[in-house]
Amino acid sequence: MFAVGLTGGIGSGKSTVADLFAARGATIVDTDLIAHRITAPHGVAMPQIEAEFGPDFVAGDGSMDRARMRALVFGDDAARKRLEAITHPLIRSETEREWRAADGPYVIVVVPLLVESGTWKTRVDRVLDVDCSVETQIERVMRRNGFTREQVLAIVARQASRETRLAAADDVVVNDHASLEALTQQVDALHRRYLELAARAAPATDRG
Ligand code: ADP
Repeated sequence: MFAVGLTGGIGSGKSTVADLFAARGATIVDTDLIAHRITAPHGVAMPQIEAEFGPDFVAGDGSMDRARMRALVFGDDAARKRLEAITHPLIRSETEREWRAADGPYVIVVVPLLVESGTWKTRVDRVLDVDCSVETQIERVMRRNGFTREQVLAIVARQASRETRLAAADDVVVNDHASLEALTQQVDALHRRYLELAARAAPATDRG
């Protein structure tokens, strides 16, 4: 199944753009949702998390005790790596399972840290970057999450730069002060292109 990796910095508009693709029939596979689901009550990561970290890290409802885990991995790289050794392979396999089961004409895989993580870039057929200025990111995330300017800047600093993402992208959605109409036009053009590319790619390189 032809797959587009959709990425962008925090607040760039990934979810907004993914929703527009979904409305046109693309299947959306969201790695953030999957990451959350595997540690939700009785999620597939929970047996390994309990075995590795102990029952104290499992909340009463069978989900990961997020506050406790955050406190542990904050500033403790070894613990963070132990957690990621469990979660990353499961996020990958769950993503691939959803991707294979997809019934749309192509898949949009939303990967916020696609450029940073390396392996995703080689798994998707194309990289789509939702781009906006850092100033726009700050405004949106302050409004959406109630964060301070400094909090947003700290997150932005941990992510790849705007230039790095643009350099890695095959396609770009420009989402700086874009009206819904302007966004829709860009998504319509990309959707037509992806339908074409997906039709050309199938079935010889079909992975599903
Ligand atoms: P991401 O998923 O990349 O973090 P979102 O799609 O959630 O970003 O967008 C961040 C916030 O900005 C949301 O509240 C969204 O509604 C708003 N937003 C995104 N794009 C636009 C736009 N072109 N105009 C106005 N608001 C926007």
